Amino acid sequence: MPCDNHRRLEIAVQPVPKQDPKERVKNWDEAFLGYALETAVIEAERCIQCPTAPCQEACPVENDIPGSFALLEKGDVIGAANVFRETSTLPEMCGRLCPQESLCEGACVVGFAIRTADMGRQPPVSIGKLESFVTDYQRRTEGLPMPELAPPSGKKVAVVGSGPASLAVAEELIKKGHACTVFEAWPEPGGVLLYGIPNFKMRKEILDEKLAFLQGLGIEFVCNTRIGTDVSIDDLFRQGHHAVFIGTGAGVGGQMRIPGEELGEVYQATEFLVRGNLEPQQLPDEMRQPLPVGKHVLVVGGGDTSMDCVRTAIRLGAESVTCMYRRTEHEQKGREEERRHALEEGVQFQYLTVPTRFTGQNGRVTAAECIRMRLGEADDSGRRRPEPVPDSEFTVPADTVVLAIGYSADDLLEETTPGLHTDKRSHLIRVKEDYSTSRRGMFAGGDNVNGADLVVTALADGRRAAEAIHSYLQGL
Ligand SMILES: Cc1cc2nc3c(=O)[nH]c(=O)nc-3n(C[C@H](O)[C@H](O)[C@H](O)COP(=O)(O)OP(=O)(O)OC[C@H]3O[C@@H](n4cnc5c(N)ncnc54)[C@H](O)[C@@H]3O)c2cc1C
Repeated sequence: MPCDNHRRLEIAVQPVPKQDPKERVKNWDEAFLGYALETAVIEAERCIQCPTAPCQEACPVENDIPGSFALLEKGDVIGAANVFRETSTLPEMCGRLCPQESLCEGACVVGFAIRTADMGRQPPVSIGKLESFVTDYQRRTEGLPMPELAPPSGKKVAVVGSGPASLAVAEELIKKGHACTVFEAWPEPGGVLLYGIPNFKMRKEILDEKLAFLQGLGIEFVCNTRIGTDVSIDDLFRQGHHAVFIGTGAGVGGQMRIPGEELGEVYQATEFLVRGNLEPQQLPDEMRQPLPVGKHVLVVGGGDTSMDCVRTAIRLGAESVTCMYRRTEHEQKGREEERRHALEEGVQFQYLTVPTRFTGQNGRVTAAECIRMRLGEADDSGRRRPEPVPDSEFTVPADTVVLAIGYSADDLLEETTPGLHTDKRSHLIRVKEDYSTSRRGMFAGGDNVNGADLVVTALADGRRAAEAIHSYLQGL
């Protein structure tokens, strides 16, 4: 190993300052406070600049991570930010939201490098936190950099939905000279970036600035408009759009189908999160009432969405917050970092347990009847299947219940768009390699193609679909 690498491997990991749990439960600010310039530069020096860059390969948008950090360690923060912006339209969000441990940081050679006994094993370079640091720094000091815009092509594209996939499509297409109108069902654009992800994971100003920037580029946003109900996709073509991108996500919350699910104060995760985290004017009329969070909040489900719900419940002032999951921590799919945050903030975990019925008084939930589970044989996903333990029933008090047991796509566009091929069971839209659907001029990407996934995979789809839409428009 060259001696420069030895030197780099000896640099201690630079921890990112965080709000103390006791303090952060009293506010909605991000838990991580972010790097300072000096510590960010030292952390970037830990990158050993591997020529094969496995971190880049593991990144769905193939960010040139070593290239960026080579500039950062010389103090060129803006240059480092621009490297991320070459391949990603939302780097400050990905830096905060990606599960880096299973993407770039999971592949980082520094995290695998063999150490002498006294050094022990070091964590990988903090790629995500550095990505947010450099891009935040750039936004704060210079604003988002203006791209070069091609002259108007005379072509118009309708983008349905306004999550990360759609924002990426619209940004890439407007740069190529095509007019873009984004249609969104919620009152404001952003998809799950606004209507889902809480402020303590990503402050909303970052999204607001991005949306203002996109509007400044000429992208038009039309909200409170559900395509398929108010206007059909065929209407969009009749209105003169030359192509349509469908980025409607997977927003239908899973149901348990157990007695008592219809009781008052039993919420779907999205409703609980948006009413807990957003201002009433950002919500549809029927969701503008204050959220009456109870003393004992029970969140069912063990993924990242349930961590968002339990941490929201804590900040809303619940006395006790329990996360109930039918398997063990070992099988949990979400980020370990999020579980740690929840534990630090006082959330209790009930593993190997499921509710079998919610009971209530005067139409409102008051308790959950539960049963203990044990793990049996592995199922199709390779995880051991939970099975009920006979005679292990018990009841817990619960005056607010939140169901966070997964999301799927809805069937509205499948029902209202003749010739659009979907998987009839999952309602996911079938696309070819270039993201084109069975209908000419219609493209799709993000969670409505992949199933509930990640911001970065939706973003990657959006960028690639934009290339395909551009080629299609040029060929018209
Ligand atoms: C609570 C929560 C937390 C999450 N946290 C993370 C995280 O920390 N990190 C991470 O990487 N991923 C996270 N995810 C997943 C991630 O947010 C999604 O994978 C990503 O947003 C998908 O992007 P998208 O563009 O495909 O769709 P979405 O972001 O879902 O956006 C789709 C938009 O389309 C709109 N729409 C739907 N149908 C219509 C219609 N017919 N007409 C008009 N508009 C329509 C919807 O209202 C929505 O705004 C989280 C998801 C949830 C629900």
